[in-house]
Amino acid sequence: MDTSAVPDPAFHSALSLDPCYAGLSAPYLTPVAPTPLPHPRLVHFNAPLAAELGIDTGDQALVDILSGNRPWPAYAPVASVYAGHQFGNWVSQLGDGRALTIAEIRKPDGGRAELQLKGAGPTPYSRGADGRAVLRSSIREYLCSEAMHALGIPTTRSLSLVASPEPVQRETVETAAVVCRVAPSFVRFGQFEFFYHRGQHAQLAPLADHVIAAHFPHLANESDRYARWLEDVVERTARLIAQWQTVGFCHGVMNTDNFSILGLTLDYGPFGFMDAFRQHHVCNHSDYEGRYGYDSQPLIGQWNCSRLLQAALPLLSDNQDEAANIVTDIYERYAPAYSREAIRRWADKLGLREVRAGDTDLVSRLLTLLHRSKSDFTRTFRHLSRVRTDSDAPATGVREEIAELAAFDAWVADYRARLRAESNTDDAARAAGMNRVNPKYVLRNHLAQAAIERAESGDDSEVAALMRLLSRPYDEQPDMERYAAAPPDELRHLEISCSS
Ligand code: AMP
Ligand code: MG
Repeated sequence: MDTSAVPDPAFHSALSLDPCYAGLSAPYLTPVAPTPLPHPRLVHFNAPLAAELGIDTGDQALVDILSGNRPWPAYAPVASVYAGHQFGNWVSQLGDGRALTIAEIRKPDGGRAELQLKGAGPTPYSRGADGRAVLRSSIREYLCSEAMHALGIPTTRSLSLVASPEPVQRETVETAAVVCRVAPSFVRFGQFEFFYHRGQHAQLAPLADHVIAAHFPHLANESDRYARWLEDVVERTARLIAQWQTVGFCHGVMNTDNFSILGLTLDYGPFGFMDAFRQHHVCNHSDYEGRYGYDSQPLIGQWNCSRLLQAALPLLSDNQDEAANIVTDIYERYAPAYSREAIRRWADKLGLREVRAGDTDLVSRLLTLLHRSKSDFTRTFRHLSRVRTDSDAPATGVREEIAELAAFDAWVADYRARLRAESNTDDAARAAGMNRVNPKYVLRNHLAQAAIERAESGDDSEVAALMRLLSRPYDEQPDMERYAAAPPDELRHLEISCSS
């Protein structure tokens, strides 16, 4: 029996459907039904997120919906059109080529949540591609979204991961999977760029008004609402990237179509948490010029904001000079917002109570030492809490990571002096605070890879283990110690490409 058209009554009544974005309709989006996924297997269901959303059932009706095999009751799925700057080059036509919004709901706490299936089949924006996502990249996105959330970094979330034996051709034949991801909104910088560069400037205001009404409602009735909204977006973006930097995260594909209007980490592809620290680490094997290397991320974020601001010019004033002046003022907010957030977070990682002159230098000297020694980023910062102000005893786990010991010992002496200068000499209290900001566990590539290989052979237990582990990244989890180790030599250089 085809059950696809039959809404599950219990499921339906449990949810508060609240279509809002879909109301924008054409030319912003197109109704598209998901392509059914054969033989779906639920790899993981994120029950805590489901509870937050007010979805308290993981039954078959829901699995069918999350596979794309049954519609969400009373909601017509949609795909959005966008464009974007990809690796610096303008691409005039992109869009949700394999993502569909399948529901918009109100959460029990009143917040909005949009649910998207990624990998649910072709759309009018697929540009000849298959609309599918492979299990490998779906596991990476699924795990990393939740790992970032648990780290406190703004991100889209993952509700479910469904696998299928359906073959998908990439460099080799792989199999399909569908992730249901969740965010208040998936609107991207590239949506504004699409209409601006086509000269369809009248289409910008309805999109901006939707975003403001739904997600920046305090600005909705302000006469300067567009400028204030853009200021907020620029500052959120700057703060987001400061968070990436201080946790050693490289996004890998910082194209403007992958930049969220809410300042969320969006579209996980060839991302990577650094194991060995390198200032210009490039995690995306397909990024031949290293455009999106670790130390370029802050400036790329700023450049992406400049692309958004250009697209927003017609919203700001009919007078071009005036619009340009407003945009310049907004753009100039990025750098100080970034610096404030970054130095505050680096200072927190060092256990400093306040930011003082010289702290930037202290941080960059440490990062230079880490870079030269190829030290493990996560482990070195985690172990830094073992430095004591009352003794010269070397902090175990830190000195071992460093090659230039004389320079490092000089740094530690200055660090101790800096701590004493703010009377920060309660070593145990400082260590406890540092352990709340320096994660012990991050989604290292080799950990994700192990979960992928197991799931590809039908064993989903490692995905579940990593979900549990990474939901508490700052906590000691004694039986999970091996997950905090640096990768073995043979797994240090896993190549992660754009292919997904
Ligand atoms: P991404 O690199 O995943 O951010 O994708 C860039 C663009 O290509 C987006 O517009 C995607 O929707 C589209 N895209 C990527 N992979 C596929 C695919 N397998 N089928 C259809 N569209 C895709
Ligand atoms: Mg994308």
